[in-house]
Amino acid sequence: MKVFSLFAALSVLVIGSINQVSAQETKVRWFGHAAFSITTPRGAVLLIDPWLNNPLNPEAKDGKDPLASVPKVDYILLTHGHRDHVGDAVEIAKKTGAALVCNPELAGNLVKLAGFPEKQGTTDSIMGIGGEIQIADGEVTIAMTPAIHSSSVFNPKAGANEPERAYGGNPAGFVIIIKNGPTIYHSGDTAYFKDMEIIGENYSLDVALLNIGGHFGMEPKMAAKAAQAVRARLAVPQHFGTFPGIAQNADGFAAELKKMKINFYEMKPGETITYRGKQLIKSK
Ligand SMILES: [Zn+2]
Repeated sequence: MKVFSLFAALSVLVIGSINQVSAQETKVRWFGHAAFSITTPRGAVLLIDPWLNNPLNPEAKDGKDPLASVPKVDYILLTHGHRDHVGDAVEIAKKTGAALVCNPELAGNLVKLAGFPEKQGTTDSIMGIGGEIQIADGEVTIAMTPAIHSSSVFNPKAGANEPERAYGGNPAGFVIIIKNGPTIYHSGDTAYFKDMEIIGENYSLDVALLNIGGHFGMEPKMAAKAAQAVRARLAVPQHFGTFPGIAQNADGFAAELKKMKINFYEMKPGETITYRGKQLIKSK
């Protein structure tokens, strides 16, 4: 036993030193619309609102299968049940074994109506607004924050005289706190609300991923107010340019942030930004 533990300890040391260069790096990738992946320093992969088949995703163009670009996923986080957010969650879950992080009503209906794998949709990472959970062996803490929006699940089993949308619980946002990495806020599709200030008071946000497209969520001017309310060190726009009816670019948002002297970075679909600790070091 002793020999074995010594060997195990040595291998941890060796593996540790090999990984040292990238050990403290967190990677945030945007697939277009509200879909992001986060890869933690220890290599856990979180996928948020994974509509990978959205028209902006370069991985979905030219007949490519966008699911091939996410071979490993540990957790799927859903802010609410709308199709442009649940996206390809069911197929990704089946392919990767990822556990679901969302509210219980959305999880229950995705399992029952959309074929989300039951074991992965009924773990203790199902949560409610106001709560925090620890995932990825304690490396990541997730807080579910309020969002003013709606939430429903498309029901492919609905009969001719039944509503095609089932209950999706309360819509939400997420604060994702990564050990030795940044704290990231994803707004979901929320409208601006003044109590967003409480998110900024409770959490020290390195980056806020904010919906800016308007029509269904915040107009660019209100999204800038949201960036100010949550006191983000950096504001990154999302949920724009995907389909007609929402803002086609982030120029209005950028202009408002400039007036407020808030840092802005516009990711390109498919782009990854890298944090070392809490420091943004590069994008590609
Ligand atoms: Zn949406």
